Amino acid sequence: RASLDDDEESGRVRVAVRLRPKNADDLLWESDFTDSVELQPELKRLKLRKNNWISESYRFDEVFTETASQKRVYEAVAKPVVESVLNGYNGTVMAYGQTGTGKTFTLGQLGKNDPSQRGIMVRALEDILADVSPAFDTVSVSYVQLYLESVQDLLAPEKINIPIVEDPKTGEVSLPGLAIVEIRNLGQFIELLQIGEANRHAANTKLNTESSRSHAILMVHVQRSSKIKDETEVSQGNDTDRSISSQHVSMILKSKLLMVDLAGSERIDKSGSEGHMLEEAKFINLSLTSLGKCINALAENSPHIPTRDSKLTRLLRDSFGGTARTSLVITVGPSARHYSETASTIAFGQRAM
Ligand code: ADP
Ligand code: MG
Repeated sequence: RASLDDDEESGRVRVAVRLRPKNADDLLWESDFTDSVELQPELKRLKLRKNNWISESYRFDEVFTETASQKRVYEAVAKPVVESVLNGYNGTVMAYGQTGTGKTFTLGQLGKNDPSQRGIMVRALEDILADVSPAFDTVSVSYVQLYLESVQDLLAPEKINIPIVEDPKTGEVSLPGLAIVEIRNLGQFIELLQIGEANRHAANTKLNTESSRSHAILMVHVQRSSKIKDETEVSQGNDTDRSISSQHVSMILKSKLLMVDLAGSERIDKSGSEGHMLEEAKFINLSLTSLGKCINALAENSPHIPTRDSKLTRLLRDSFGGTARTSLVITVGPSARHYSETASTIAFGQRAM
């Protein structure tokens, strides 16, 4: 089985597809319910289905049926990225799909009453907090939403229009003025996520829009000096050329994990929209299209990743490609009623393969 730990795997985007179970809404239509997809999880393949027509099969890195557990999805999709972040590399985990197909369930589910339901964000923090050393390392988070090409701080919602700045020398992306909160335990993190969600809801009510129309981005900053200490000890003990000399013990290893709950990918009918709705449609299409182009460029090993076209891709720039590890989960619903949205989601995922 191909693993993210293979060196050639960094830089490439790994893509998993996850099918949401049927819900009450699907069942309302049960008399004429037909499945939109046919999964072959052991072959990591998926076929699209419409009436009696079945497409060729598409291959993904992972195919999750509607019974796949949150734990399995985390372990296959996010854990390798988290491990690489703990070793000092940047990484990104994203969810893409039509509204209502399980992006937030996959990434943001808190599982307060049932930890088995926890999504990727909580599980990632759990693993990160378990690995770092409280005496030498720090873990801190920021949480933003990107709406109409404007970055808003979800932990300090009065801060809007936060600039995205790239260090010309290191390429490091930063957002001056953004709240960064140090996290010491998982309970504290879950509370913070809840505050962020509440702020997001309030902000979007005020803006008269739905949360599905904006991207939510959780950034986890990891700073380690314990890791450097470990490496020094290791390199003293054997003959490797990984020499981090003892005078650098005070060095800090910095890395960043981005977890991105993307805006709903459904086509917004621009022809019928005006004003506010038209602006939304334009910007969502712009950012998702530009993300698709970057993913495509990575898949083709292109030396140029066109990240300048949207704020979303500018924000991802240093956590995407190069030495960074990236995983994408595309989420689809089961019903043929949503065939065209499902087909376009699959097509987006295939651009990375
Ligand atoms: P999105 O964020 O893509 O709009 P949500 O994550 O909010 O979609 O999911 C829509 C609904 O379906 C929610 O009630 C969610 O709990 C449920 N759901 C989604 N995926 C699953 C799943 N794999 N298993 C169980 N329930 C799910
Ligand atoms: Mg959602």
